[in-house]
Amino acid sequence: MSTIKGTAVGPGLAIGPVHVVRARPDVVPIFTIRSEEIDGEVERLHEALLVATEQLTRQEKLVADGAGEKDARILAVHRMILQDPRALSTVDARIRDERLNAEAAVQSLIDGLHVTLDKLEGNSVRGYAADVSEPWHIVLDVLLQRDRELMTAAEDRVILAAAELTPQVVTFLGRDRILAIVTETGGRFSHGAVLARAFGMPCVVGVPNLLARLEQNLQMLVDGDAGTVQLDPDQESIDRFLERRQRRDARQEALGIHAELPSVTPDGRRLGVSVNMESIRDIGTFDVEHCDGVGLLRTEFLYMERSQFPSEEEQFRLYRRVVDAMGTRPVTFRTLDIGGDKQLPYFKTPSELNPALGWRGLRVTLEWQDLMRVQLRAVLRASAYGNVRLLLPMVTSLDEVLAVREVLTGVRTQLRDQGYEVADHVPLGVMIEVPSSIWVLDHLVRSVDFVSVGSNDLVQYILAVDRDNPFVSKLYEPQHPAVIRALAEIARISRDAGKPCSVCGEIAGDYAMALLLLGMGYDDLSVAPNFLAEVRYAIRHSPFSEAEELVRNALQLESPGAVHRLLAQVRERLHRREIESQKELSGGDGES
Ligand code: PEP
Ligand code: MG
Repeated sequence: MSTIKGTAVGPGLAIGPVHVVRARPDVVPIFTIRSEEIDGEVERLHEALLVATEQLTRQEKLVADGAGEKDARILAVHRMILQDPRALSTVDARIRDERLNAEAAVQSLIDGLHVTLDKLEGNSVRGYAADVSEPWHIVLDVLLQRDRELMTAAEDRVILAAAELTPQVVTFLGRDRILAIVTETGGRFSHGAVLARAFGMPCVVGVPNLLARLEQNLQMLVDGDAGTVQLDPDQESIDRFLERRQRRDARQEALGIHAELPSVTPDGRRLGVSVNMESIRDIGTFDVEHCDGVGLLRTEFLYMERSQFPSEEEQFRLYRRVVDAMGTRPVTFRTLDIGGDKQLPYFKTPSELNPALGWRGLRVTLEWQDLMRVQLRAVLRASAYGNVRLLLPMVTSLDEVLAVREVLTGVRTQLRDQGYEVADHVPLGVMIEVPSSIWVLDHLVRSVDFVSVGSNDLVQYILAVDRDNPFVSKLYEPQHPAVIRALAEIARISRDAGKPCSVCGEIAGDYAMALLLLGMGYDDLSVAPNFLAEVRYAIRHSPFSEAEELVRNALQLESPGAVHRLLAQVRERLHRREIESQKELSGGDGES
């Protein structure tokens, strides 16, 4: 039994059996299997070998029919390689003697083949090394795929453990099957982390050597508040953990009452609190009455859940469902923001050395305007049924906004000509997530109806710290004075221009940061549904004058650490108020 410290990413406490995810074929997980699982694991290997052999036979026939027997010969050789008893017994032994999972055992065979053959001289020998290992790569792919199929068919709820926190890991199973997610690496603000929080999953990243310490199905405690995991806990630890979870649930329930009340400070300042949505399945996971709308709908995740581009009709139906569910509340559709770690399986963008600085967001859709037109048509058609807004990601200059406006005007005219009903006014907003957009914000605000800060990207671009790169994750500091000043400046310019401004990046869900944003003059925040109650509670218990003073103090500070300390004081103050109000409610004898 041991407790390991990582980084807290998604709050909450979970207990359950571990399942190691083999979601990314290029990251082969290595972990120990239990002795009673050895036979099953060897069976998995043999089944995968059969499937790979069948695949090769099918391919061989296809090639023979199309290109001729000679070209098909290599596939016959691949099949024979898989029948080599020495290779098979090597893999078998790794599973039985070292208790390795089948994927790791196959990977180690592949590595061994390369080491042996790399020692030999000559290009033709190296080419032979590739040939010898190639069929084993097919076995590896089959194993990874079979794991997904087996897990999808099972019913139990599990804690997912993986090498890296990617969107693929978070969506590996239905969200009702995932108790928590734990990974070896991953940024706190990567898209995987954003999804985990959005789905309300406790999540801890940066757990050193996690997979090497794990056995499949091992019992684990995940503390997403403190950022720790405990492997194979004893009964006493489990009991203490369950007790804490009960207290936590009771607090969440008490806070939930505030989610129903207006998010207005005691001295009368209102700060709207909306939700971020990633999937159509988010409908029903939060109470519509508890939020002021959808402040950010990341439409790319709707695209990612499909096997080809959704048609206009499909998009319209999905968008309409969200609009209908939200009634008169606004729904902010962000146009497709792909690139970087948000890839569509059916739209391969070129591999880039610096994807964060590359072809993503508006840069893709302005170049592939057909994509943009189809999406705008679907959004505008949905606008006839509710309160719809459009938001543009990765804006760097006014030209881009004007280019979108032109497309938008064309699409609107076309739709009207075709007899579709479209709302008279669909507000258009820009995301501020690239530093250049702050310097030209005074121009941008004249051409848009609202401003929304994507702090996840803004922080990475201001600080030159890749939000997905675990090697620099410690440098990713939303509390950096440069970020604090940028945030204050964005609010000031927007308000001077009379344009509403909001923050939809992850910082808005941190209630202490939310109070800072309140003091800066932001009109709205958009947060993962899980954070609605806490943020609304904080607003209802903090005078605006106090938040303004907080901003004045924060703007004087010289280091991220100093801002952290200031925000820690805010949390303490609010915690004391919470205890006081509990005491009042329970007639003066509430417990802390
Ligand atoms: C952001 O960058 O803050 C944002 C909201 O967009 P995403 O996290 O999807 O990049
Ligand atoms: Mg962004």
